Amino acid sequence: MAAVSGYFEILMIINKDAGKTVSILGSTGVIGRRTLRLLNLDKKHYKVIALTANQNFTLLAQQARLTQAEIVAVADSSCYKALKQELGSSNVEILAGKEGLKYAASAAADWVMSAITGFAALAPTMAAIRHCKTLVLANKEALVCAGQLLIAAAKANKVNLIPVDSEHNAIFQILQNNVSQKQIESITLTASGGPFYQYTPQQMQSITPEQALSHPTWGMGQKITIDSATIMNKGLEIIEACHLFSLPPSQIKVAIHPESILHGLVSFCDGSATAVLSHPDMDIPISTSLSWPQRTATQAQKLDLARLGKINFMEPDEQRFPALKLAREVLEKRGNYPIVLNAANEVAVQAFLDHKIKFLDIVQVVEEVIGKTTHQVNLSLPEIIQQDKAARQDVRKIINSLYPSKQEYKTKRLRLLYASS
Ligand code: NDP
Repeated sequence: MAAVSGYFEILMIINKDAGKTVSILGSTGVIGRRTLRLLNLDKKHYKVIALTANQNFTLLAQQARLTQAEIVAVADSSCYKALKQELGSSNVEILAGKEGLKYAASAAADWVMSAITGFAALAPTMAAIRHCKTLVLANKEALVCAGQLLIAAAKANKVNLIPVDSEHNAIFQILQNNVSQKQIESITLTASGGPFYQYTPQQMQSITPEQALSHPTWGMGQKITIDSATIMNKGLEIIEACHLFSLPPSQIKVAIHPESILHGLVSFCDGSATAVLSHPDMDIPISTSLSWPQRTATQAQKLDLARLGKINFMEPDEQRFPALKLAREVLEKRGNYPIVLNAANEVAVQAFLDHKIKFLDIVQVVEEVIGKTTHQVNLSLPEIIQQDKAARQDVRKIINSLYPSKQEYKTKRLRLLYASS
């Protein structure tokens, strides 16, 4: 009987607790900082090898001093000098640019956290896979765009791949118990629904970046917070789950669950189901992946069902939140479509944060770029990077044509605000 979950059947390297070497790609972000905090609580068990950031050299330097990291890298080369100054005469190796990041990611380490946001994580994650024992993936965009290549590289290099996204981490935990693919009826990923789940279409017209950045249950980086508000995040997660667990899209369900207590559920062929529940706290999946296959105590609030009372589940509303349907469509087509979806979404989210487009434009422009895409399959890594680049150019053109001047955008938005008040 074939064990489940893609490639997890191959290996089970038992983590030796003492002296584990770790690297964190994206150490200055929300997940990176949490990971470092957990490592620091248990200092004697970990040795930090490499830390990376995009531009936040001040925090990166602080982290390097605190952890005595061997290597630090900033993706933005213009920050190199400042980072070097911050670190003074210390012995840490300092690098910059895309190659610098790849170098840092390639340093041999037992455990690597990939917590860079967006497509930018792909190349360093790929580099890390070739030189680590366990790769912990917080980043989902790399899997969405190059899932087949990443999973194949992990298999070839005998690397444990542990998802840290709370929903996928839940499914991962459940599937460790000798579950066979044949026994699975479906898996369910839950979604909080974001801050606007109860909004009317009229109210959704005037959502501001400030409102969208206020997530009801999770404290996350800006990009994933906006993705949660459009529910594109769950669309990306369906694609992520297909790759991680080798399941067809039809076996992956989504339920809106505003309390974010139940993270993932596996339904079995006999009618029973197993779920993982916890308070919404990313320390839990990070800790699970740090200690896997053991468990370590955390400070996280423990569940008390009687005190919790009831929790709620609903069908997703794909009319008001079309991102889910769009993600399912690109997943059926595969090839370059998920890459285009992801690239267009990254650019559109940034344009919304920069007040260049409206909230409802985000998914609309993604849909428009997808509509113009010609299907291509079996892409190599350089071809995936090229597809990403081209899709970004296409979506920028669409965004520029939507509101040729910022003034026009502001006038339209003021009218909408006035109409909805
Ligand atoms: P943040 O925005 O808080 O952090 C992103 C990190 O990536 C920072 O270290 C940032 O550096 C770095 N970074 C950004 N752009 C680049 C780039 N172009 N090249 C190299 N490094 C870059 O994000 P989160 O920590 O919230 O999320 C990280 C990933 O984890 C995302 O893919 C997200 O979807 C996923 N995730 C996050 C969860 C959460 O609760 N936060 C939950 C589940 C998944 P700098 O600080 O210098 O900008």
